[in-house]
Amino acid sequence: MPRDIRDNVDALRKLLRPEVTSLNSYRLARYSGLTKLDQNENGFGPPEPVRRALMDASDKSCFHRYPDLEAAELREALGRLFDWPSEGILVGNGSNELLLTLAMATLEKGRTAIAPSPSFSTYAYVTRLLGSDLVEIPADENLVHRSEPFAVAIEKNRPALVFLCTPNNPTGSAMSPSEVRAVAESCQSLLVVDEAYYEFSGWSALELLPSYPHLVVLRTFSKAAGLAGLRIGYLMAHPELAQEIRKAQLPYGVNQFSRVGALVACEHYDSIRARARVIVEERDRLCSLLQSFSRIQPYPSQTNFILFECELGAQPVFDGLLSRGVLVRNLSSHAHLSRCLRVTVGRREENDQFINALGATLEGLS
Ligand code: PMP
Repeated sequence: MPRDIRDNVDALRKLLRPEVTSLNSYRLARYSGLTKLDQNENGFGPPEPVRRALMDASDKSCFHRYPDLEAAELREALGRLFDWPSEGILVGNGSNELLLTLAMATLEKGRTAIAPSPSFSTYAYVTRLLGSDLVEIPADENLVHRSEPFAVAIEKNRPALVFLCTPNNPTGSAMSPSEVRAVAESCQSLLVVDEAYYEFSGWSALELLPSYPHLVVLRTFSKAAGLAGLRIGYLMAHPELAQEIRKAQLPYGVNQFSRVGALVACEHYDSIRARARVIVEERDRLCSLLQSFSRIQPYPSQTNFILFECELGAQPVFDGLLSRGVLVRNLSSHAHLSRCLRVTVGRREENDQFINALGATLEGLS
């Protein structure tokens, strides 16, 4: 091995594609023993039968065998649940993995993707990883994304992939059905509508799928279904399109254990929906409580989290909450969110703990 490679980190970096080395890796500080309201998880966890089925599976499953290549049972269950042909459904190791699959199926150097901003960071990440250009579409002054700027950018850039995120992370706002339809009308490329939070909002772009075959609806079991740790997501698309996209995916991406969890979650979807309604009630209560603080401005949310602006700055409020045992997400590094934090709606007692910690923090800072 040449000496300069053994000794020199820069030489080692040159072994990799510049699209990889120029990325900032996704990092999250590790904390323990805190009330964890930073990742939009479901503090209630999955329905009890899902937990039981997982325990059962660990006793009975044949872990020395590969799972079914087609993941047919789960795809059929999803198909029945959402009334969409199972050939048009793909499952992945988290919706994150499906975002990479979609990017690999459409993007390369010289191509362009369009994504909302501020929004979920993975859209920019997978676009840059594949060496494509990214055009980011800002939200309006209320942090809501509108179709018009998307249509203009689509006309100008002729993208290979367009991402929408509705309801959007981290703003909490949703695009109206007519705005999503307008974007679908204006674009010729693949259009991904990320609905990670759809159970908290009520509307799905799934109803547009029959009329717009270039649409892909992306969902996850990580949020309302309470299975973030199992890493499982799915997409729904026109069956012919889904079967082509599948070629960009490695086989057996979702492990047997996660399939069992997701399958039983499908069977108990009513209780997942019921739990989502409880979280929505809590969200609205939390939003009113946030509004009662004079130096805090919450944004309306259609998700299981709330973005709020801190007049005193994001960092001191984040630190004050942390020192009182509550972890939220600090979004201040984002240009348009310099005074913003995001709190996940947890169980009632967690939300109360957050509100009490926020009250004490604001008092301490004034
Ligand atoms: N999309 C959005 C909008 C998200 O907020 C997240 C997770 N925070 C994901 C996709 C990824 O979810 P997962 O990989 O857990 O399915």
